[in-house]
Amino acid sequence: MDRAAARREDAGWLRAAWERENTRVLPLAGGRTRVSEGPDGWRLALVRPRDCPPGGTRYFLGTDGTGAAYFAYATGRLPAPPTGTARVAALGDGDCPLGDRDHGMLVHATALENWHRNHGRCPGCGDPTTVEGGGHVRRCAACGVEHHPRTDPAVLMLITDAGDRCLLGSRTRWPAHQYSVPAGYVEPGETAEAAVRREAAEEAGVAIGAVRCVETEAHPFPGSLMLGYEADAVSSDARADGSEMAAVRWFTRDALARAVRTGDVALPDRRYLARRLVERWYGGPLDPAPESAGAPWTE
Ligand SMILES: [Zn+2]
Repeated sequence: MDRAAARREDAGWLRAAWERENTRVLPLAGGRTRVSEGPDGWRLALVRPRDCPPGGTRYFLGTDGTGAAYFAYATGRLPAPPTGTARVAALGDGDCPLGDRDHGMLVHATALENWHRNHGRCPGCGDPTTVEGGGHVRRCAACGVEHHPRTDPAVLMLITDAGDRCLLGSRTRWPAHQYSVPAGYVEPGETAEAAVRREAAEEAGVAIGAVRCVETEAHPFPGSLMLGYEADAVSSDARADGSEMAAVRWFTRDALARAVRTGDVALPDRRYLARRLVERWYGGPLDPAPESAGAPWTE
């Protein structure tokens, strides 16, 4: 997908694209859409513009390699699916995982729908705002200010010590066997690197030296951008703060593989960046033994 941002201001092009036969639409009602299962797995059940019920709002998502245009359509009522075999799902439903392209489209559309739903009025003067920019801008008619969707950066850090052990923590609100990497939001005026060092110190009592950003992930709940870091601890001292984090533990690769296999430790689902950071360090997939596998958890 090409987001084709240059087209967003071209109202004539957007209008014509909505009329084209090969245009496809992702309808969304409160974060829910329809997905259908085919031979290659789950896909978004995209519809044609004329199948959309009136009264919704369209957001331009971009074009594909064939030049076909894609829109999201925020509506109170999902149109009938094209095949009649689709089911209703939302982003993050683990039992109908989407491929990369469809997942990316749904993240984009869900983030826009969330933002529009909560920004109908201008934060400056309180007057109603209207949609512009193909759904990527709202403008206040009274004071003329343009408002853009906000994205909130958060950091996740895979912390290792001099012995190449990794540090995982269990949060106070989680069951005791659920472990993940420390994480937290970037504060105003703070760099992501400083946030890694602050969160590591606050949650896990660890002092951090070098940090490297290795992968990022968009997460529209409500509008987070997860920044995945590897971080070098300067010592092996670590202690859970007791308020956010109930326990922190250093793991060698063998110890973590054993703990996951036996069910002593459960990691986040593989769809999440936190799990991928852990498996990147480990060097491969970490899975429980079939007899000890509980339901995967999400956070
Ligand atoms: Zn205003």
